[in-house]
Amino acid sequence: MKDRYDVVIVGGAVIGSAVAYFLTANPDFKGSVLVVERDPTYLRAATSLSSSSIRTQFSNPVNVRISQFGSEFIRNFAETMQVGDDRPDLGFHPGGYLFLANTDEQERTLRENHAVQIGCGADVVLWERAELAQAFPHLNVDDIRLASYGRSGEGWFNNTGLMYGFRNKARELGAEFIKDEVVGIGREGDRVTSVTLASGATVSAGTIVNASGPRAALTARMAGLDIPVEPRKRTIFVFDCATTPEGTANVNAGRLPLMIDPSGVFCRPEGKFFLSGCPPIEDPAADWDDFEPRYDEFETIIWPALAERSPAFEAIKVVNQWAGHYDFNTLDHNLVVGRHPEVANFIFANGFSGHGLQQGPAAGRGVSELITYGSYRTLDLSEVGFERIVENRPFLERAVI
Ligand SMILES: Cc1cc2nc3c(=O)[nH]c(=O)nc-3n(C[C@H](O)[C@H](O)[C@H](O)COP(=O)(O)OP(=O)(O)OC[C@H]3O[C@@H](n4cnc5c(N)ncnc54)[C@H](O)[C@@H]3O)c2cc1C
Repeated sequence: MKDRYDVVIVGGAVIGSAVAYFLTANPDFKGSVLVVERDPTYLRAATSLSSSSIRTQFSNPVNVRISQFGSEFIRNFAETMQVGDDRPDLGFHPGGYLFLANTDEQERTLRENHAVQIGCGADVVLWERAELAQAFPHLNVDDIRLASYGRSGEGWFNNTGLMYGFRNKARELGAEFIKDEVVGIGREGDRVTSVTLASGATVSAGTIVNASGPRAALTARMAGLDIPVEPRKRTIFVFDCATTPEGTANVNAGRLPLMIDPSGVFCRPEGKFFLSGCPPIEDPAADWDDFEPRYDEFETIIWPALAERSPAFEAIKVVNQWAGHYDFNTLDHNLVVGRHPEVANFIFANGFSGHGLQQGPAAGRGVSELITYGSYRTLDLSEVGFERIVENRPFLERAVI
């Protein structure tokens, strides 16, 4: 490790690794990159505990375009990220999201969101009840007024594969990754100058990037700044289904979508099982070390909603569960990517609130453009910049899960 780097990235999971990759892969960037990661097992990183899905069905064009780039990038990942003989295939499973609406308001929202998505070129269709019943005959659609389905560009993939792909390629291209914890940030007026590590070293930095996930606010505070991001617990349940919705036990339910029930309960195939979750009833900030699943959510919220939606989901059994922390932006539940208005060489890539895996490629590319060129060159991410936080001006996105 040297005593000075052009860019020091705090956190080396998907966001930190993506920033390191996009910087080092850009021939116009001539600098040095250090990524500091306190726990390279990544056991508790949001990246590792994610449900690893990507959708273009957002209500804001910026989010649609971020995921369109993510989807394209993930499809070509093995080729782009090849290191030696290792081609990190992310096993992208192209299952669309299926949003179901059963109230006037939900129907109106799906129609309005659809117009935005189509305007961005996303491959999303609206289905009336009869078309929905024909597409997925196992569903009980009696109460459904409208469905919205992503025909392509959506699905699920290997979460840690995405992170390690970025990380390994960035290392090959010259980024240094170290195991240590940033415990202090030096600041002189409108500039950050250095990071202090738990091991005792101090490293000077031209630019610092906050990629510390749910811990983003702790990192910001080291430089005397605030960002409204806190850890919020989400529990994922994997269940076995005696009879798959296709009618045959234990076949790969490949054709089934990632369904978002009107209740907010979601469910998608995961190999021969299904993966599910729900919005929590109460949602306080989680303790940093509290990763205890909320076991009761399955019995009280998820199972009743799924059994009501499909007879195939009446006999299901949990085979695994885990809890992770969303990097939750309490202002507007969306990413904050950009320079701090008062401290221009401190860049934030935080607050993804449940979408950070799919948004990793676009966020990494965007931050690398800010550092290399001083402005965005491809997708303009100014709307999700830090200014709106300071001005208390929420970014509007209605399709939050
Ligand atoms: C249950 C669950 C389901 C999800 N489902 C999806 C999904 O389907 N699709 C999707 O796109 N997104 C999803 N997400 C969100 C997504 O996983 C996150 O937004 C994304 O992984 C955030 O990546 P990150 O690198 O910013 O944070 P993290 O993965 O948490 O990584 C931050 C890293 O920073 C390190 N760090 C923190 N502080 C310091 C420090 N001071 N010094 C050094 N290192 C430090 C940490 O050790 C950690 O490794 C989900 C999240 C959860 C919890």
